[in-house]
Amino acid sequence: MKADLEGFIEEALLEVSNASDLKRLQDLKVRYLGKKGELTQLLKTLGSLPETERPAAGKRINDAKVQIDTAIQKAADRLKEVEKIQTIESRRIDVTLPGFFVPPGHQHPINTILEEICDIFASLGFRIEEGPEVEDDYHNFEALNIPKEHPARDMQDTFYVEGGLVLRTHTSPVQIRVMERQPPPIRIIAPGKVYRCDSDQTHTPMFHQVEGLLVDRRVSMAELKGTLEAFVHAMFGPEIPIRLRPSFFPFTEPSAEIDMGCVICRGKGCSACKRTGWIEILGAGMVNPRVFEFCGYDPGEFSGFAFGLGVERVAMLKYGIDDLRLFFENDVRFLEQF
Ligand SMILES: [Zn+2]
Repeated sequence: MKADLEGFIEEALLEVSNASDLKRLQDLKVRYLGKKGELTQLLKTLGSLPETERPAAGKRINDAKVQIDTAIQKAADRLKEVEKIQTIESRRIDVTLPGFFVPPGHQHPINTILEEICDIFASLGFRIEEGPEVEDDYHNFEALNIPKEHPARDMQDTFYVEGGLVLRTHTSPVQIRVMERQPPPIRIIAPGKVYRCDSDQTHTPMFHQVEGLLVDRRVSMAELKGTLEAFVHAMFGPEIPIRLRPSFFPFTEPSAEIDMGCVICRGKGCSACKRTGWIEILGAGMVNPRVFEFCGYDPGEFSGFAFGLGVERVAMLKYGIDDLRLFFENDVRFLEQF
């Protein structure tokens, strides 16, 4: 039995030292030391030995058990250490490799133009005012001299909201709110979003306007022209001419469309300006006395001018873009260019 046991221990220790992972080691532990393991089986054979030999044989088997168990424990410690090192190695970061490029974002071109417009008028002494985007009928239409059944209401394809409210169709209601709040003199611009039920290459359901209003004593159309000329020169260049064309808006009288020299052909005539050399840039006029009456101003004492310009239109002309919808599709390839 002694020789058998020596051979058995030798074989077990060899297997343990060859085990390449913890799973294999666990299997060996069950095989040699488990309840149905080979050493346990050997202990059970003690009964067949002569009584005098039993204590010594039992001790040898128990010693073998301790020896194999110790070897397994040591091998487990070693394998755990190896696994730990492998894990660390697999997660190693090479700080010398090039990193991932995260492109910095920037302002949307519409906001850039909007800020530029506000800066130009601020430098002319205009204060910035804001108003609600969900308006009541009175401020959006009535007080601007657009009574019910007025054809101008059809022109403005309105989004109606419950409770007799509308999504404002222009920034003009801000004029009314400011005049209701304070006496003249007034010199404000009102930038913001406006909404119309309309969508094609040159119309989107939401777009941006900048409204302007100046009220004081003896304000004339010459000042309106001078102000808008200063704006066009600051935005598009001092060589660009403007002209006023008679037009109609319910809230101004007289009213004018303001054209500027075509920035693409410089007045020679191209498809963008329909061969005329002029491009429409905004609408304006002298504040209609009816509007002053709605706000409690005396039209005999005060006069003023108002104008409204489309921010997208200015951006399209400034950047040479022919489809308005590009501004709202958020295609990064388009936006990156600005
Ligand atoms: Zn042109």
